[in-house]
Amino acid sequence: MATQDKVLSPQPRSVGKSLLLTLPIAFWSLLMFAHSWRIQRSAQIASVTTAVFMIALFFMMMRTSSTYRWRRWFFVALGLLFPVGFIHQVIAMRGTMGIPIEEMIAGRTPFCYIPIPMLILPAALMKTVVFPGSIRPHGGMSGGGMAAMAGIWLAITIVIGKGWCSYACFFGGIEEGMASVPPKPKVRKIDPRWRYGPWAVLLVMVLMSLALFEPAYCMWLCPFKAVSEYVAARNTVGTVQNGIFVLLFATLVIALPLLTKKRTQCAFFCPFGAFQSIFNKTSIFDVKIDRSRCTPCVLCQKSCPTLSLTDESIEKGETLMSCMKCGACVDACPKDAAVWHIKGTEVALKPERARLMFLYAAWAMAIMFGGSIIAEGLQTIVHVFI
Ligand code: SF4
Ligand code: SF4
Repeated sequence: MATQDKVLSPQPRSVGKSLLLTLPIAFWSLLMFAHSWRIQRSAQIASVTTAVFMIALFFMMMRTSSTYRWRRWFFVALGLLFPVGFIHQVIAMRGTMGIPIEEMIAGRTPFCYIPIPMLILPAALMKTVVFPGSIRPHGGMSGGGMAAMAGIWLAITIVIGKGWCSYACFFGGIEEGMASVPPKPKVRKIDPRWRYGPWAVLLVMVLMSLALFEPAYCMWLCPFKAVSEYVAARNTVGTVQNGIFVLLFATLVIALPLLTKKRTQCAFFCPFGAFQSIFNKTSIFDVKIDRSRCTPCVLCQKSCPTLSLTDESIEKGETLMSCMKCGACVDACPKDAAVWHIKGTEVALKPERARLMFLYAAWAMAIMFGGSIIAEGLQTIVHVFI
């Protein structure tokens, strides 16, 4: 391909062009939040605020060509506001965040996507779904039920693969926020073998779920039980389970991200993240290294929150399969060598076009899924004041 066909990262766009590029996202936001006009004032305020927030962030992504820097605001807001709306909903319906273990096993809990990969095998072998969440629409406390949420997960996954972990996961934002706090990491050396952690947790949890025929991860290892519904501690076992949840949350989601500036829970522990990595193979978008421009200074490697770049992968011009398409490496690269890419096209051929196409898909889904969660959390807060 002729060199002149290659388009490097552009200078900041004009306000007019950035606004034009933002228009489809603005229409999508209006469509997604239009229903709130028929309900309470607190919902209207929360929806308008969320829509403006999401449109403004997309505009800045168009104007500046930075992705990670603006996406992070959305993702941290999602991570912080999810527990607000969720805990309010659980307490309104049950009067407590503690759910008895038998109700969890019976599926009378809010739906969560994280146990999906750990329960596929038990379901296939035993011909019964053992799942901590209602499968019926409006069942349990989840509102949409498992079928609706599984459909949303599938749609997002097919298009953006492990991008789910940067644009949809309602837990990852807490640790991304923590990782953003220190200007520099206190701990720089991390054993690369920790990358296998999520796969090890996934394997152990599949086997445990199979052996016990229970959602083992939800009952024993989920760090996010500390900020959602937990096991009603009616005996020593319940107390131990809750102690594990709090310890994992404090370590993996708070302390280690503060020390390393990495998303340690996502990169070294989350079994759903490991499962989601597989779908990076089916997504048409990825992040590549243009070898012809790379020096290699490894700034991209240092900026990656999930250790998804190594000396060898940079040499090959690739990211590892754990890449969650956050864009930190693309923003960090001083040579415009880390680029967005559409599979089947030449690397670095119109990377900005690839970035735009990816962002339209990812942001539309972020508004549909994460936006509604942000609005719910905001509504809970607004409701206190009006
Ligand atoms: S930051 Fe850019 S130039 Fe440096 S190693 Fe990474 S891709 Fe190459
Ligand atoms: S390789 Fe780049 S896009 Fe992928 S997770 Fe790391 S920083 Fe984010």
